[in-house]
Amino acid sequence: MNNKPSTNQNLSEGALTDSQSQETVKKIDVPEIVTVNELSSLMKIESIELIKNLMRNGFMFSINDVVERDIAVLLAKHFGFEVLPLSKESTSTTSQYEKGTDSKLNNRPPVIAILGHVDHGKTTLLDSIRKTNIVSAEAGGITQHIGAYQINHNQQPITFIDTPGHAAFTQMRARGANITDIVILVVAADDGIMPQTIEAINHIKAANVPMIVAINKMDSPTSDPDRVKRQLSENNILIEEWGGDIISCEVSALKGEGIEDLLENIILLSEILELKSDVNKDATGVIIEASLDKNSGPSTTLLVQNGTLLLGDYIFAGKSSGKIKSIVNDVGEKLNKAEPSLPVKILGLDSVPEAGSVFQSTKDSKSLKHELSQTSKSSNSAKTIQLENLRASSDSENITSLNIILKTDFQGTLEPIINSIENLANDRQRINVIHASSGGISENDILLASASNAIVFGFNVFTQPSAHMLATKELIQIRDHRIIYELLDDIQSLLSDISEPIKEDIISGVAIVKAIFSHGKSAKIAGIMVNEGSIKRGNTIHLIRNSQLVHKGPIRSLRHFKDDVRELNSGFEGGIVLETFQDIKEGDMLEAHSLEIK
Ligand code: GDP
Repeated sequence: MNNKPSTNQNLSEGALTDSQSQETVKKIDVPEIVTVNELSSLMKIESIELIKNLMRNGFMFSINDVVERDIAVLLAKHFGFEVLPLSKESTSTTSQYEKGTDSKLNNRPPVIAILGHVDHGKTTLLDSIRKTNIVSAEAGGITQHIGAYQINHNQQPITFIDTPGHAAFTQMRARGANITDIVILVVAADDGIMPQTIEAINHIKAANVPMIVAINKMDSPTSDPDRVKRQLSENNILIEEWGGDIISCEVSALKGEGIEDLLENIILLSEILELKSDVNKDATGVIIEASLDKNSGPSTTLLVQNGTLLLGDYIFAGKSSGKIKSIVNDVGEKLNKAEPSLPVKILGLDSVPEAGSVFQSTKDSKSLKHELSQTSKSSNSAKTIQLENLRASSDSENITSLNIILKTDFQGTLEPIINSIENLANDRQRINVIHASSGGISENDILLASASNAIVFGFNVFTQPSAHMLATKELIQIRDHRIIYELLDDIQSLLSDISEPIKEDIISGVAIVKAIFSHGKSAKIAGIMVNEGSIKRGNTIHLIRNSQLVHKGPIRSLRHFKDDVRELNSGFEGGIVLETFQDIKEGDMLEAHSLEIK
């Protein structure tokens, strides 16, 4: 599954409405990067017509936005044009790293993300890998936490994304920037597969990224790696030992055991993947994290995927742009350039770009404007998944968890709403805000909801039609609200609903009315014979006459001869008075119903 905002899924040919005549098919040559305006000139159709058509299909474009190629092709087709295939030359400018054996391409180090359940040792493993392969000592540098780091294992560099968990992984992937080459799935041998492990597996599968399983905490006295392996197979992860092709390593992140073997396997797998890039190009890549430094301004960690980033280059990422003033690696060394897969921190952008957005560098400031429109489009259209925060630390039978994806109108409303939502949680009822960001509800949100079994909450946002369709297909709930307290009430009542044990209506006994006796002024005692099960005081009686349900209600009294009883069992006769119904007749059938916890 491709989680890039898949235009193929969003914009089917049939979905393009308001069709114009397609009798004469004219061929047009559309460049790989094309704006709405340029398409309009090529087709000689008012750009407003193009924008209107795009809007009808759930895409918000303005005149200078870059249209992804597959949308452009469909749009052109709708207006009666056939788009000529891209020439080889233009396709070769693609920014993604390429896999292959082209001699001009150089090998590049693999980029690794670590996923797994909370407390299974992701951070410890990241620390342990970094510690056992210190490059800082040689370089005299000091380890910096910049969101990613690179180690050398037997002269082979490997890059690790330093933010464990799904966050970075999903962020990047959601924007179409598949930065991770290999995922390490960490499973604690003393705990086994837990809910977030399964979520991680779903994310990895969705991203179609190869994985290596690290069975951690092997030093723990209660470690049971065989159980982990069995559980993995139950989740369709077949490791080599079980006849599959997924590499697994047994490690102790705490004691640093098995790490060498793990690194060896990473190198092995990355050789198979043949990761290549062309260092001779301008750099493209992904923003890993960014923040505002009081003294030096926006500070950005990025990872070059292709090309080389040079000091003095112009760079743009989303709405941010600027000239690179400094490049520093993860051990604090100042560099003149950054080659593929090397995480670096740069200074020079005019604002803080969003983590996960794509960047592009150029030596020529004039091309900045064109490129800006390209990158801002790619980060806009990706309808970002900005935050993925799995907070549940454990799951047990008594704890309810509600997974939420939250979309709000403004970035500024996110945090207060998340805080209020989190305040609704308690020891027994957990709320996991799996993802929260501003912007309309997109297919990505639905896919993530589907992968994580979440409900999507929208606050003053629009749901893209394609997202609606996908939600219906995937059976994902979308709940829209315009007022915060209504949204909170909704979540509260959902929490109560899912915490309520499910009760089932059981027929616990059946009796037949044999005779009717008057009792006091209006009440009637029915003399009954219990044929099946038993009739209990707390039951609800369904009175059935001629196969019709005539009355439903509680029991006022139950007797056996003169004694009040709590229960009349099968084979016994007794008397019953119903609470609110006196029209009871001989021959009526009484069904005793009770609600039992499933
Ligand atoms: P994360 O939430 O997945 O990042 O987990 P952490 O790395 O924070 O580890 C959670 C706990 O497990 C910490 O107390 C670690 O010391 C402990 N831990 C991590 N790895 C190991 C290991 O290999 N063996 C043992 N016994 N404990 C470990």
